[in-house]
Amino acid sequence: MSHLFDAPEGLRMARQELSVHDFTDGWTLFRKLALADTLNFTFWFNTAFRAIIHMQDSDHYIQSSDAAALGLPLFLRIYTVRQEIELHRKALACQLPTFLISPACNTEDICKDAWASAWFEYFALRLVHPDEPVCDRDILIEMESHSNWPDLCEFCHIDNVRDLRSMYPNPFDGEECIIRRALGEPEDDAIMIDDE
Ligand SMILES: [Zn+2]
Repeated sequence: MSHLFDAPEGLRMARQELSVHDFTDGWTLFRKLALADTLNFTFWFNTAFRAIIHMQDSDHYIQSSDAAALGLPLFLRIYTVRQEIELHRKALACQLPTFLISPACNTEDICKDAWASAWFEYFALRLVHPDEPVCDRDILIEMESHSNWPDLCEFCHIDNVRDLRSMYPNPFDGEECIIRRALGEPEDDAIMIDDE
């Protein structure tokens, strides 16, 4: 209760006490988030917020006791971000990434079809999977594996995935940008693409 009164020593001790415990020991993420919010402990808040956002619906997601611990404003903040991410994944899944035939390709028609087939029959479905959807950045990582692109020649695979990674702004950074915006963090830092 120290935060409700002018009790800096009590607040300091509370933060110190919380800091020495393992972050995941004992308390649910929802209680941790609520407490970090109360104590204005940014690191804890952001860490718990991200962990909750990345929980799968099948992972014992928000129960009524969790919602009670969070309170309505925090609950709505999480709900809104998860909705934004879901919409982003759906939009990404519907849009076939741009494909350009590699100058070294000898199988143009096959590669063009192979690109669309792999996207809509594999990657897009993983983005919007009902139980275990995969986040945008992990999809981009999966795209780097040639074995996930049946019938696509190696030249087209290398050239097009390289082009996708170097896009700016990059649609596969969308989820990180949504989370950073919600946390008030600079979105420019969200860019992971490093074409080295
Ligand atoms: Zn090709």
